[in-house]
Amino acid sequence: MSKTLCYFKGEYLEENEIYIHPLSPSTQYGLNVFEGIRGYFDPKDRCFYVLELEKHLNRLFESANKLQLKHKYSIQQIEIIIQKLLKLNQFDEDVYFKTVLLISQKGSWSQILEADLLIVPWKLNRAFDKSKKCLNLSISSWERISSNSMPPSVKTGANYINGRYAFLEAKSKNADLPLFLNNKGNVSESSGSCIVFIKDKTLYTPPLSADILDSITRQFVFEFSKNMLKYNTIIKNLTLEDIRKSDEAFLCGTSIEIFPVGTIDDISFSYGEKTITNKIKNFYFKLVRNETPYTSKFLKKIML
Ligand code: PMP
Repeated sequence: MSKTLCYFKGEYLEENEIYIHPLSPSTQYGLNVFEGIRGYFDPKDRCFYVLELEKHLNRLFESANKLQLKHKYSIQQIEIIIQKLLKLNQFDEDVYFKTVLLISQKGSWSQILEADLLIVPWKLNRAFDKSKKCLNLSISSWERISSNSMPPSVKTGANYINGRYAFLEAKSKNADLPLFLNNKGNVSESSGSCIVFIKDKTLYTPPLSADILDSITRQFVFEFSKNMLKYNTIIKNLTLEDIRKSDEAFLCGTSIEIFPVGTIDDISFSYGEKTITNKIKNFYFKLVRNETPYTSKFLKKIML
């Protein structure tokens, strides 16, 4: 089987050819910024539809700016690299691009050093097995990091240690994933995805000020649910009381896509064929595979 080619510092290399110094600030302190970007494979046209590529790259650059990670790349250059990786690797199923700006040389967390671009593509269909119908969440005793300490809007590796504590705790309670509250006691997000609740055909999700990442999937889902599926969409702070009164809940994010939530601790939600979540999920997959007339503004088509 041929090995996957990645991009690193101007070259197309196999994973085992990539060298990062063991004492780089990225390996020592998680000082990097990254994006997960999905490409949906169309076997008929032998092409990929890359979802919201420009938004992901804009967010990558905004994260880099906030941490003063200097680099020499433009959005157009990274788009060309991603196109080339798809062509070189000739993938024949959905792909996920881990796109990272990191410091590969030896250094400290405080230095201003030039960041290098690493893009590692891998085959990724759905995040969970087909047999999994819903996720069980547990409210974390860990608080979500806040904008005054580690801004969750910056997608840096170091932020994921907060997610790890919560994830480990959730696993110890036999839950699939945690649900964070923020330092005000409002609902925030999960460890790698945002949350949406549904009550009386209206979608609710916490605002950015609830210490969430400005999820591109959350924006996308709210846009099509409002404009194409004609649901009401409300962004507001949500309390545990609000959760308790909700009919349905789902997680959304690039990796998890849209996934129904069955329980949050002792609170149960409807999931399955007849739910609004299912309708939104089905529409999502039609949009990302270019099977509706509305799609083109969200997708970049790349021929193999
Ligand atoms: N929150 C966190 C902490 C995440 O890591 C992710 C995944 N990127 C999300 C939310 C969802 O964001 P997006 O829809 O942009 O992938």
